[in-house]
Formats: sequence, C-alpha cells, structure tokens
Amino acid sequence: MVVPFNLLPSRAWRGFLDIVTPSQCLGCNVAVREPASLCVPCWAGLQHLDDPVCDMLGTPFAYDQGPGMLSAAALADPPEWDRARAAVIFDDASRKLVHALKYEDRQEAGFLMARMMTRAGRQLLAEADVILPVPLYRWRLWRRRFNQSAFLAQRLSRLSSRAWRADVLLRQRRTRSQVGLDLSERRRNVRGAFVIAEGMAAFVAGKSVMLVDDVRTTGATAEACALVLKKAGAAKVSLLTFALVPAPAKIHI
Ligand SMILES: [Zn+2]
Repeated sequence: MVVPFNLLPSRAWRGFLDIVTPSQCLGCNVAVREPASLCVPCWAGLQHLDDPVCDMLGTPFAYDQGPGMLSAAALADPPEWDRARAAVIFDDASRKLVHALKYEDRQEAGFLMARMMTRAGRQLLAEADVILPVPLYRWRLWRRRFNQSAFLAQRLSRLSSRAWRADVLLRQRRTRSQVGLDLSERRRNVRGAFVIAEGMAAFVAGKSVMLVDDVRTTGATAEACALVLKKAGAAKVSLLTFALVPAPAKIHI
C-alpha cells in the first residue's frame, strides 16, 4: 500500500527529508556539511561554559582559581547536589536548540546538545555510576510525546558508556509549570513531587548518580530530585544540563 506523504508520521517524513536535502544549521537553516550541527556564526554565538567554573554550581568565574573552587553563591546557599555543569548559558541562541528538541521534535538538536554536554560534563560523567533524567509527569509526557531529558540521558549514556535508567526516579504528581515563578515559589511547587520507584532505593544506595535535564533555571527541580536521591542513600549527586539560566528572574523559557 502506498501511504500519501501527508499521512506519514512527522519523524519519518523528516528522516526522508534528511536523506534528500543537504544538512541545515540547527540555528539558522543555512546549509552545513555535518548533520546535527551549527554553522560557524551560530556556534560562535553560543556562550559556552568552559573552565574555570564553580565546582558546585557550574557558573563561570572571571579568572582561574584552581580546581574545585566554589563561588560565593555556592558557599552562601549550597545546593542539594554535589557538583553541576552546563554546556552553555541559556540565551536567544541556545534557546533555539532547546526549543527544537522540546517543542519541534527535532532529534538532531538533541544529538548536538548531548555531544556538547559530554564535553562540559566529562569530569562528572567519569565518576557517575548511573545517569537519571529528570522525569516528567505522565500526562505531560503523553501530551509532549517524549521526555527531552530522557532523550539527552540516553544519548549521554551512549556517548560515555555510562548506564542510564528512566525507571528509578519518578514524578508522582503533576506540578504547575515553573515558568514565571521565583525560586521560593518553584521550590514550593516541586516539593514532594519526586519519589524513588518502589524497590529502587537499594539500587540508588551508595551510587554516584548524575541527574540530566535540558535547562537549569533556578535549580529547584533538580534540588528536589537530589534531595530524594540523597535520602535514598545516593553517595553523590551531580547535575548536568545543556543550558544554565544566569539570572532566572529576567528570563522566561
Ligand atoms: Zn546557523
């Protein structure tokens, strides 16, 4: 049977287009040689987070203070996780990649994001026993069709040869969108939202766990996850995101 193109699933249609058309920059659609890549101006337009960064928050330092240095913000209000890294600052340039994966279902954006995260999080990946995506609530997962953090966790697992699991950390209740909420409102919103799946506490105990998400805004969601993992006996919890929002109050995702 011949299926008309307009009835094919969008992903299959896109896969077909990838074969017959040259690769396009994920930022601006100009032709590029490599699939799942950015043109030179779009790449240069990203604010890459390279060392030196705060070991606990992953935020950039103006100058190198040596390995393991912590920022004043980390010392004043330490997060629930032990170490965090992000590949880029969340801005108009990186937002395009985040939205391409999250809302436009463009997996090639996720391939690039995961490659960049592997580089930014190489120290964290080296000590991780297992990679866990920040979970979505079932209803939201169904509506959005797939969980972008699980997609990134799976890619990171493949690139780093670390195990990943989506059945350990669960979101047990629906939370309202974090958009527009400040840090204390976000913390309240996600409190008690995450649980370890039944019978999985023994799996977590003593392990070095890496949490993965696409964007870290205030960190409230990741902190709620880290808290649950630490309570279950995780030895260490690290957080690797693609992007990091430097001043959460000013940016709406
Ligand atoms: Zn471009």
